[in-house]
Amino acid sequence: MSKATILIIEDEAEIREMLRFSLERADYRVHEAETAEQALEKLQGRLPDLLLVDWMLPGISGVDLIRRLRRDELTANLPAIMLTARGEETDKLNGFDSGVDDFLTKPFSPKELLARIKALLRRYGVQDSEQLTAGILSMDLGQHQLSINGTVIEIGPTEYRLLEFFLKKPNRVYSREQLLDSVWGRNVYVEERTVDVHILRLRKLLTPFGCDSWVQTVRGAGYRFTPETVPAQGSN
Ligand code: CA
Repeated sequence: MSKATILIIEDEAEIREMLRFSLERADYRVHEAETAEQALEKLQGRLPDLLLVDWMLPGISGVDLIRRLRRDELTANLPAIMLTARGEETDKLNGFDSGVDDFLTKPFSPKELLARIKALLRRYGVQDSEQLTAGILSMDLGQHQLSINGTVIEIGPTEYRLLEFFLKKPNRVYSREQLLDSVWGRNVYVEERTVDVHILRLRKLLTPFGCDSWVQTVRGAGYRFTPETVPAQGSN
């Protein structure tokens, strides 16, 4: 049911509805904001995988919003497509300066929209499918299910979200703070130690399958998920 999550930032209700319709039909999860200010508030929670931003917004403009997000470590690498009206093309250069990844000129077809989204997600290495896999691990995001070696495994909701995050963004070191922000959300106040607790639980869950070592502690920095590319090992 669910692929990547997309945040639409567009003040015109009609266009928002059209976008939501097209995106949901293609199985994306959709969130909406009418203004940049509203979007900034929403981005305090769990981050979407991609932003669709209208250029002309009341208050902070779409370009200024992107510029602001690029300065923040957490949102610096958030894929963003700008929606422009005909005639704004001459300003595109300015848009690219701000860190916009791509442009779509209204009116555009749903087909073009989906093609651009797919291409951009691929460029950022976001796994755009219902299934996340690494070796013997497989997560079905639609079913909200983890399978190891083809067997469905019981997993707590936080460990699930943590593992989903790691599978989407493997091989990179994340500090406890970054994990809190990305997995728990910025407006949630929990101690950094909480991260350790859930990392420990995740490792314990993976231990019988020999992949607990994929969840690595990086001394003084945080954690990294490094799935091995070697063939799957048995669970017994
Ligand atoms: Ca507008």
